[in-house]
Amino acid sequence: MSEGLQKKSEQKAIDLIKAKLSRIQPGALAQRLMEGDRNALSQAITLVESTHPAHGEAAAEIIRLCLPHAGNSIRIGITGVPGVGKSSFIEEFGTYVVEQGRRVAVLAIDPSSPISGGSILGDKTRMDKLASNEKAFIRPSPSSQTLGGVARKTRETILLCEAGGYDTIFVETVGVGQSETTVHGMTDFFLLLMLAGAGDQLQGIKRGIMEMCDAMLITKADGDNAPKAQRAKSEYISALHLFPAKPSGWTPRVDVVSSLEKKGMDVAWKMVTDYEAWMKERNLFEANRQAQDLHWMHETVKEELIARFYSLEENIQRIAAIEQAIREKRLSPFEGATQLLGSN
Ligand code: GDP
Repeated sequence: MSEGLQKKSEQKAIDLIKAKLSRIQPGALAQRLMEGDRNALSQAITLVESTHPAHGEAAAEIIRLCLPHAGNSIRIGITGVPGVGKSSFIEEFGTYVVEQGRRVAVLAIDPSSPISGGSILGDKTRMDKLASNEKAFIRPSPSSQTLGGVARKTRETILLCEAGGYDTIFVETVGVGQSETTVHGMTDFFLLLMLAGAGDQLQGIKRGIMEMCDAMLITKADGDNAPKAQRAKSEYISALHLFPAKPSGWTPRVDVVSSLEKKGMDVAWKMVTDYEAWMKERNLFEANRQAQDLHWMHETVKEELIARFYSLEENIQRIAAIEQAIREKRLSPFEGATQLLGSN
């Protein structure tokens, strides 16, 4: 393509985006979203997930409008290693919860999505029963470069779903890496799914993740696996006793479920509602959310400050010079940092 033609087609694309943007009316979209219009909710989430600066303004406006109508929900984090049965469980549990008169939104934080194109929820057929339920809303993980970026979008998506009338929010993640801490930091209740395995029961999942959980469910408690699951339950109950008590006084619960036989969904839901009551009676439910919000605000400031510092042209040059001085031992790392920070 000639340069002129390419410029023309680029301009056409820009005009198209501009025309589309001018049609977005944040007020009207937020209104439709709050009236329960699922398409409006999907559109608003797409705006939140977009990296286009003009979308950012519209998204911020929608979130501002939705915020007073958000928060009326229980936010449940769900994790477990791939293959543990997360999507099968969410399918059955979500269906059960809808039968209890609730409205369920399923979101995901998938750290592998930028590479794999989305391994959690990317394939909607994994939860087709729940996906076709009009009281349920399923959204795949946004693909973004960083866990921080995905986390921010997921937090904002939670608010939009709540404003759209979804009172039970599931945030799914895989039991590897850092994403559990992120999900724990944006949910009220953290559920760990575990397999009943042979040998050392505690292998494969990190101690820190077990320590964070409010409840643990042993999956696939059916057929030959049922007695094994019961044994695992006893072992995990003992194991969890070894962890320090939670400041709220809540003792993590352990039980077994079978998504295949649709067993244990009532037990799982009771864990959630008992926990919510426990926290609310002690005024800890809202306090925990406030602490999460403040933490998130400070984290965002830190990220932004760092990004600004490293993108300043004069800093980029000074950093290179100071790095060289440190390599040549003319400057200690600490002194180098002091000089850099002092220049701002
Ligand atoms: P995920 O990777 O954690 O989302 O796990 P999936 O829900 O995709 O399940 C992984 C495999 O375990 C699939 O082959 C499921 O059919 C199977 N599975 C899931 N739940 C159960 C269950 O309750 N019982 C049995 N027997 N198999 C299950």
